[in-house]
Amino acid sequence: MIEIIDIHCHLTFKEYDADREQVIEDAEKVLKGVVTSGVEPEDSKHALELAAMHEGFVFVTPGLHPIHVSERTDQEIGEYEEFISDNKRKIVGIGEIGLDYHWVRDPLKIKRTKEVFVEFLGLAKEFDLPVVLHLRGTGSEAIEEGLKIVLDEDIRKAVFHCFTGKPQLAEQICEEGYYISLPASIVRSKSMKKVAKRIPLSLLLTETDAPYLSPTEEERNVPQHVKVVYEEIAIQRKIDVHVAEEEIERNFERLFAVEL
Ligand SMILES: [Zn+2]
Repeated sequence: MIEIIDIHCHLTFKEYDADREQVIEDAEKVLKGVVTSGVEPEDSKHALELAAMHEGFVFVTPGLHPIHVSERTDQEIGEYEEFISDNKRKIVGIGEIGLDYHWVRDPLKIKRTKEVFVEFLGLAKEFDLPVVLHLRGTGSEAIEEGLKIVLDEDIRKAVFHCFTGKPQLAEQICEEGYYISLPASIVRSKSMKKVAKRIPLSLLLTETDAPYLSPTEEERNVPQHVKVVYEEIAIQRKIDVHVAEEEIERNFERLFAVEL
């Protein structure tokens, strides 16, 4: 029985322009569901089209990736929020949203990124949807700051996507009841392996961030590579891989309020 899930990828990206339908068809053979996250307005529209074509398999979380915030005017962001509101029944969460200190370094841009982040958190709260958080850059600074912001904003349902922080920080996040999602690049990461071992299984999720973060470096990633995350979780926790599959499916259904 197929039980694996990719809670974060980008099926809309140009890397799949030549063979997108084939990629999704191949994924359907191995996976039970995938969440494709919109990074800006056009991308989210495209993601919703894909979801409509693959109902019950492709799910969407529209967001505004921190690297795309400064290229948008307030008016464009307002229109995008309206678009999200109009489609709130077709989406399972808001994201990816967050902070990125690797690409966004200008203090004014950082300030605006934070404001827009908080605005989108408000949207998620208004629609009672979970958020998919992208928190990247300079050690654990972005993750720690993001955690503080979601707590301050009284966000209850959140997943820290592609978690790159230390195991101790992961535990702290889980104590607040938030989820941690680990990508296929876990095969190359000692600290991700430790996270997989130490946090409660009931707050663990699995993803690819495809087309990025392939388990084989430099290669285009695809959702079915999420299999390696399950294998690694099973190894680290010394459990049967099916136990991990079942539990993570329940986590997915609980967080995104979806029944697979
Ligand atoms: Zn992503």
